[in-house]
Amino acid sequence: MIIHNVMEEAVEDILDKQWENLAVSCHCPECKMDVLALSLNRLKPRYVRNQAGGMYAKADLMTEQSRATILTAIVESSKVVSACPRHSGGMIQK
Ligand SMILES: [Zn+2]
Repeated sequence: MIIHNVMEEAVEDILDKQWENLAVSCHCPECKMDVLALSLNRLKPRYVRNQAGGMYAKADLMTEQSRATILTAIVESSKVVSACPRHSGGMIQK
């Protein structure tokens, strides 16, 4: 049985498109993953069990309202990561 969180895909998709425009202090892949993880913690997961359910839930997440909610979570998370980047190349070590 495979359980899949479609919210993960939706956040990844929006983050990919907005990443270059986000006011983060660092645009390295590690900081991007931190923003992704933090955003997912802020958002309600949408678990689905099969392909058809996934399509439906995904369409649901692509409404303007959902996209705005996701983008807000991403912006808030990028502020947290900007204030305290945890990438290995930075000043602060993990
Ligand atoms: Zn970084």
